[in-house]
Amino acid sequence: MARTDLPLVTLSSKGAARLAGGHPWVFRSDIAQAPNTPPGLVRLQDTRQRPLGTALWSPASEIRVRRLEADPERTVDAGWWHDAIARAGARRRPLGAHTDAWRVVHGEGDGLPSLVVDRYADVLVVQLLSAGIETQRAHIVDALRALERPEGILARNDAAVRAREGLSRTTEPLLGHVPESVEFREHGVRMLAAPHTGQKTGAFLDQRDNRALVGSLARGRALDVFSYHGSFAQHLARGADSVTAVDVSADALARGAENAALNGHAHVTTVVADAFDWLREARTRGDRFDTIVIDPPAFAKSRAALPQAMRGYADVFRLGLLLLAEGGTLFAASCSHHLGLPDFLDVLEHAAADSGRRVTLRQLTTQPLDHPIVLTIPETQYLKGALLTVD
Ligand code: SAH
Repeated sequence: MARTDLPLVTLSSKGAARLAGGHPWVFRSDIAQAPNTPPGLVRLQDTRQRPLGTALWSPASEIRVRRLEADPERTVDAGWWHDAIARAGARRRPLGAHTDAWRVVHGEGDGLPSLVVDRYADVLVVQLLSAGIETQRAHIVDALRALERPEGILARNDAAVRAREGLSRTTEPLLGHVPESVEFREHGVRMLAAPHTGQKTGAFLDQRDNRALVGSLARGRALDVFSYHGSFAQHLARGADSVTAVDVSADALARGAENAALNGHAHVTTVVADAFDWLREARTRGDRFDTIVIDPPAFAKSRAALPQAMRGYADVFRLGLLLLAEGGTLFAASCSHHLGLPDFLDVLEHAAADSGRRVTLRQLTTQPLDHPIVLTIPETQYLKGALLTVD
């Protein structure tokens, strides 16, 4: 039986159309009528009182409504959360053959807006990214405990988006113990994640398949730019004679050195430097590399920043192409949602033209199985990768 005691929110026809189009968000301007009610679950209806299901309510946010359940007859309760998280977890099962770290829940991509859950071996790291989802915390933790049986659950609730929801930014344990450093495996490589202090929830799980791909092609002198904690570097090290890992973060590279040691990769060298400066200096020195990875941070944090971001990507990829030895391979990536696939191809074309080299696109890649893209929710698509070679 559906709950009728939840506050009732009426959506404008535009808001209702957005849901009908397959997007779970309704913005403040598309709320026709709403009671003055705190964050939590609400019932939705259109202006003709037709029920539209159950949603998370975030009264301080521009994104007021995030729909969880379209069926007005279904109640969002402990059992609902258990089933939804079980479905998400089941879809990840094939990954277990190659890794013990994956995204268990990818928010909107899994029909669970503003919820992120990552697994690193025996622990889980959760991000509750809206005021509405915060109110469901107990159900979520109960479901994760029962389904995933972790030794600990940590809430990495320090993400900046929480401020826009009127929420505090904190990191706190929700269950058991989560160590500062957690070892996981990824396609035969051993890696340390830093759940409490690392970027995202402690590592960049979304590049897993791309790391395996590039690792399988690596040879000669290899370079990993924007390396973070040497993630691509450890995969490159399996085929390459030497690997240089460059990042501006000394902390990340300190863990990168630990990761190299863990894998017995004495031929990985870490360099703390600004990537743009370092690439220009390498060019001046006349350095050449056979395998290069360039995986920058999101240069386009907003749509307005896109033109400048595109110039930044083109510049850094051009520098990478210029450093390639004959027959070399560059893997170039962008994790900016605002930079769509056509823009990414445009950037690559410019970088190729400006490098003056004959560049071939061998393969395009995107997000792995545990970071699903829902076609009606453009925000779920962000990662693009290109495998390029020069003659
Ligand atoms: N390749 C990594 C993820 C990279 S995330 C992986 O697969 O795990 C982007 C990285 O770029 C971060 O580690 C950040 O410290 C680094 N970074 C940001 N700006 C930089 C700059 N100007 N020069 C060098 N590194 C930079």
